[in-house]
Amino acid sequence: MTKHVFVTGGVVSSLGKGLTTACIGMLLESRGLRVRIQKFDPYINVDAGTMNPFQHGEVYVTQDGGETDLDLGHYERFTNAPLSRQCNTTTGRIYHNVITKERRGAYLGGCVQVVPHITNEIKSHIRQFDGPDVDIVLSELGGTAGDIESASYLEAFRQFVYEHGRDNACFVHLTLIPYLRASGELKTKPTQQSVGILRQIGIQPDVLICRSEKSMTQEMRDKIALFCNVEKKYVFEELDVEHSIYELPLLLHQQGVDDALIERLGLPKKPAQLEEWQKLVHSVVNPKGSVDIAVVGKYIELKDAYKSVYESIAHGGIANNVEVNIHRIAAEEINDQNAGAKLRGVTGILVPGGFGERGIEGKISAVRFARENRVPYFGLCLGMQIAVIEFARNVAGLKGAHSSEFSKDTPHPVITLLKDQANVRDMGGTMRLGSQPCKLVEGTIARKAYGVELVQERHRHRYEFNNAYREQLSAKGLIVSGINPDLDLVEISEIKDHPFFVGVQFHPEFQSKPIKAHPLFRAFIEAAAKRKAAL
Ligand code: GLN
Repeated sequence: MTKHVFVTGGVVSSLGKGLTTACIGMLLESRGLRVRIQKFDPYINVDAGTMNPFQHGEVYVTQDGGETDLDLGHYERFTNAPLSRQCNTTTGRIYHNVITKERRGAYLGGCVQVVPHITNEIKSHIRQFDGPDVDIVLSELGGTAGDIESASYLEAFRQFVYEHGRDNACFVHLTLIPYLRASGELKTKPTQQSVGILRQIGIQPDVLICRSEKSMTQEMRDKIALFCNVEKKYVFEELDVEHSIYELPLLLHQQGVDDALIERLGLPKKPAQLEEWQKLVHSVVNPKGSVDIAVVGKYIELKDAYKSVYESIAHGGIANNVEVNIHRIAAEEINDQNAGAKLRGVTGILVPGGFGERGIEGKISAVRFARENRVPYFGLCLGMQIAVIEFARNVAGLKGAHSSEFSKDTPHPVITLLKDQANVRDMGGTMRLGSQPCKLVEGTIARKAYGVELVQERHRHRYEFNNAYREQLSAKGLIVSGINPDLDLVEISEIKDHPFFVGVQFHPEFQSKPIKAHPLFRAFIEAAAKRKAAL
């Protein structure tokens, strides 16, 4: 029988609930359990695809083309649990399903209500991965206990545990123990109150994980246990990690978080297999050398906006055993005149994906600097399109070359819409999305990095390299190194006589893992390390 763990958050948002859930998943897998992880998001958007990264962070794309919450990226980086669009359910999706059923007459004239119809729909999603090949399902709830939006989810979770029995399902609550600098104290009251909110609606957390800047005394843990009605041995702390988030699962394991859940749910207690992860952390903590990577983007103030990109750069660092210093540079502030000063000393430049015109010319200047100064360059999605525009304008002499996304009347639309995108009106779920094949061309940087001929990479964009310019640009030294064999679309571009200048129309950052860096991120950081050594 599949067991269930519900992860909720209390006191404040941004405690790292997604990360903690991913770590728990990874630890349970290390104990030989077959895990699935899903996230429930209480907003009314049907999926994350229409949300601004500035408000909500990156949109993570699953292999089947789901546009999901960035926490799924944590799940995929930490675990081997299969992920799909089904693993992210929003209030919008739940209501959409219920209303569709109502329109079909499925409720036989009944009055359709939050309880039981919405809660039943939520419960059916909780159960969606149950089966003989799944030992445990982790369901994370977005938001904070007490939010109006979360109420129907918490009620569904409560009912689920009531119906399935407390031996088969349990609650983990992630909370904050704030440190008051003025009085030099850690405070437990917000945690007591947040657990109080859950208990009021009939949910008794089994495990508490307390985020804190400072370590708690045993006395404090005992007090939290007593007032929150949680067993003392099930009160854990999660301190800020010193070097990297990849240390976190080991810190939770040392305290026995995985043991607690295994014991609480009566699962078989196999020894933890963590050698690979320990090696990884050792490499992060003991780097030999460093690289300086400039990420030239639009949302540089917000780390979550390019979450998977930053993580993948870190993975490239781990694979090359170097420390990566990331310099976040606002694209809007760069131009041809100041690029040299702004990018001085960096050993690699990356332009991530993006939409909209703001900062485009700055990105083009950064790419020009990388091309002319032989600085390793890696362009992701929009970052590839920018590289093609820069090449068209400054090498091929196509004055005014642009993407038709930004200039409708450019004389040279080197990046353009395909016919099937031209008439699209709905914004949600209508881009070129998800895993697609890419065939690599012999003798190129990409082919060498991957070491195979055919790869699958995830997409999320509307615009494409314009094949009408393929010959002309190739004649000037642009190398098409990856092609979609079914649609004959350019997926990877490089340039001649450069140590590493690669643009990809897809998003390799969605497939990189700390223990298995994406080949192109590995090769990019390797090139950056070579440049550093030569400086
Ligand atoms: N705006 C570009 C397009 O839609 C690039 C998208 C992206 O970088 N994800 O094609």
